[in-house]
Amino acid sequence: MRTLFIYPLFPKTFWSYEKILELVNRKVLLPPLGLVTVAALLPQEWDMKLVDRNVREIIEEEWNWAELVVISGMIVQKDDMQIQIAEAKRRGLPVAVGGPYASSTPDAPEIEQADFKVLDEGEITLPMFIEAIQRGDNSGRFSSEGEKPDVTATPIPRFDLLQLDAYDSMSVQFSRGCPFNCEFCDIIVLYGRKPRTKNPEQLIAELQSLYNLGWRRSIFLVDDNFIGNKRNAKLLLPQIKSWQEERGYPFSFATEASVDLADDEEMMRMMHEARFESVFLGIETPDEASLATSRKLQNTRNPLDAAVDRITANGIRVMAGFIIGFDGEKDGAGRRIVDFVTRTGIPAAMMGMLQALPNTALWHRLEKEGRLIQDKSAAKGVNQTNLLNFKPTRPIRDIANEYVDAFCALYEPNAYMDRVYSYYLKMGAPRWKGTSKLPTWTDIKALSIVVWRQGIKRDTRSRFWRYMLSMARRNPAMLEQFLVVLAHNEHFLEYRAIVQREIREQLESLPPEEPSTSRELLTA
Ligand code: SF4
Repeated sequence: MRTLFIYPLFPKTFWSYEKILELVNRKVLLPPLGLVTVAALLPQEWDMKLVDRNVREIIEEEWNWAELVVISGMIVQKDDMQIQIAEAKRRGLPVAVGGPYASSTPDAPEIEQADFKVLDEGEITLPMFIEAIQRGDNSGRFSSEGEKPDVTATPIPRFDLLQLDAYDSMSVQFSRGCPFNCEFCDIIVLYGRKPRTKNPEQLIAELQSLYNLGWRRSIFLVDDNFIGNKRNAKLLLPQIKSWQEERGYPFSFATEASVDLADDEEMMRMMHEARFESVFLGIETPDEASLATSRKLQNTRNPLDAAVDRITANGIRVMAGFIIGFDGEKDGAGRRIVDFVTRTGIPAAMMGMLQALPNTALWHRLEKEGRLIQDKSAAKGVNQTNLLNFKPTRPIRDIANEYVDAFCALYEPNAYMDRVYSYYLKMGAPRWKGTSKLPTWTDIKALSIVVWRQGIKRDTRSRFWRYMLSMARRNPAMLEQFLVVLAHNEHFLEYRAIVQREIREQLESLPPEEPSTSRELLTA
């Protein structure tokens, strides 16, 4: 079966980092790990080609070659998903869809035309799909009915189908699911609260496969919460460390984890020694009442400032997500986030307005309270330019204006530079020793552009040189990373203008707010 895998387009988001990717000659940050995993689960005698539409267009010969089209994507990719399904159908090709969007909203209009809906986790539903194809069926819908597969049998993803040089980072996955219970989270709906992990040997085999294909850059462990199963994470980390040591530390790692990582010195040390350079934390807000409302109680157990400092001191850079628009939130939430980020120095702080994602506990509660202003098919997912998709407990304009102000304050060039500088002074120096590499021509070109823009052209120039010299003297091991993270503001600066423009446009088109909304909801 000649199978064409299509990964739909992403809109520009905070994490798309276009300007940075342009600097380093890459097209996209991360590859479609789900699709290459599906490819590994299908019969290996099938011929396969993969087109990531974020990398390039599909060419005529590929459409003509295909006998089956497989599409997967997230909620933010749904528009292009619909376009690609329609194009495949126009050409008379059978289409199978799967992935997070299809699984959470199988009846969504965007995927209506697909012949096969392969929902939930492929380890369970792909064998049903294969059987259907082999029987000659023309359509089908396959669900795991709540069953969660054991991932210890999941094969090595077909990384060979990817155009590796287009990506800044590769992805692998060790675990699925998270033990926590945050009200707005769709991860626990899709993957459950009992984290399931692969065996350490399985993950090492995936790393080796990437290494054999010539990969030598960063790897993102896309786990929902890498430390969801601490015991198994601690069994894996020493194996990664040895594998890295034997090869001169060819990979750097980033992942996502819950804030309680800061309570586990051993875990942080092990992660650092395996060369985990950054971790994304869902901090959400420094407001304890909002954390309690959203059932993110794990973030209220210990002071968040100290948690960030401890992870930083262990040589792991913290990236963090923040949300505004929780029920009962008091005025000034945006400012309190800016103050927190400034205090801790977190360089990349992602902000968004709260979104109720289909089928989450938040979605069901708001539906019961009659507060959703979108049905499932209109939900857009988490994007930094989306207004809340429900009636909040304070005026939506106040929330949106605070959000825009906070975003602009966080990425004001001087403020960003101050923050990154203070952060890297606190950052622990690497304890691992890798093989040193000469910079490539692309690295040198990117560095020259950043120095030209931030150190000569803009009014950040005196700060730039002062901080560079000081960093070289006070924490020289971190100078290179400091420069790389300074370069990230090339993207944030542009993204700041997009956020400002798009939110203001949406606010202008909103009907006047009923003055009673916030009061009524608070007393409901
Ligand atoms: S900690 Fe993160 S992944 Fe886990 S339930 Fe909360 S939001 Fe979801």
